[in-house]
Amino acid sequence: MKVVHTVKETRDQVREWRKQGLTVGLVPTMGFLHEGHQSLIAKAVEENDKVVVSVFVNPIQFAPNEDLEAYPRDLEADTRLCEATGADLIFNPEPEEMYAPDFSTHVDMEQVSEQLCGKSRPIHFRGVCTVVSKLFNIVCPDKAYFGQKDAQQLAVIKRMVRDLNFGIEIVGCPIIREEDGLAKSSRNTYLSEEERKAALILSKTIKLGQEMVEAGERDSKKVVDAMIKNIETEPMAKIDYVQAVDAVTCQEIDTLKGEVLVAMAVYIGKTRLIDNFIATVD
Ligand code: AMP
Repeated sequence: MKVVHTVKETRDQVREWRKQGLTVGLVPTMGFLHEGHQSLIAKAVEENDKVVVSVFVNPIQFAPNEDLEAYPRDLEADTRLCEATGADLIFNPEPEEMYAPDFSTHVDMEQVSEQLCGKSRPIHFRGVCTVVSKLFNIVCPDKAYFGQKDAQQLAVIKRMVRDLNFGIEIVGCPIIREEDGLAKSSRNTYLSEEERKAALILSKTIKLGQEMVEAGERDSKKVVDAMIKNIETEPMAKIDYVQAVDAVTCQEIDTLKGEVLVAMAVYIGKTRLIDNFIATVD
């Protein structure tokens, strides 16, 4: 497995594979890889001849008050995980390789990016859409893999691919959790021992919401209110949002019907964690 740092090296390698008639899968990540990322890479390895993993902490999706500098990085460990999982290439550019000093083109999205995380992170999805478009143009994969953990991001990318005619199949992969239920995240490393325990309120609340929907509750306000009440039992938790939306459009819904996404962002201390569930409701 190779680790490269430039767009040119990546393009040259992919061109070589294409000449041999091989298919290519892409797994975009910000690194500090864990079993969540690994499940995406494993799926990509299963479905493609060659797999590129991008490891890039994308500065333009972080607001000035967010954790760009603190975001954990460990390329050596990432390389080991990618190699063990069967990836073929890591693309690990420096920000300067991706963004010229006079970089001036962005991909902006309406609707899907406006609710949920879009409310509290107004520039986030512009940064995500822009960097993912660049990665798609650099790697030109047949398929690209994204986790359901970031359910709104997955919906945003699907919409972008449809709207801008990227000829790429987007594959969504289920949330991988710790044994006690906490969704795996590179940001979990920020949590102190006490916060790590408190963070369980997210997955417990997801379970509560899921059970209400399974038991037949169709009033989204009732589900969301019960979830909020449950989170409020944890003194270390501060709610950013809990919302029920249509899973495709990410627009808020009053009645749970069709494919619905119930998602939350909650601060545990200074760490902002997200979790969600998707339900198909008649
Ligand atoms: P990140 O490095 O956090 O930007 O994540 C890169 C990709 O891995 C995104 O598509 C995430 O949704 C996905 N991912 C992160 N954590 C998990 C998880 N616990 N389960 C499944 N996918 C995940």
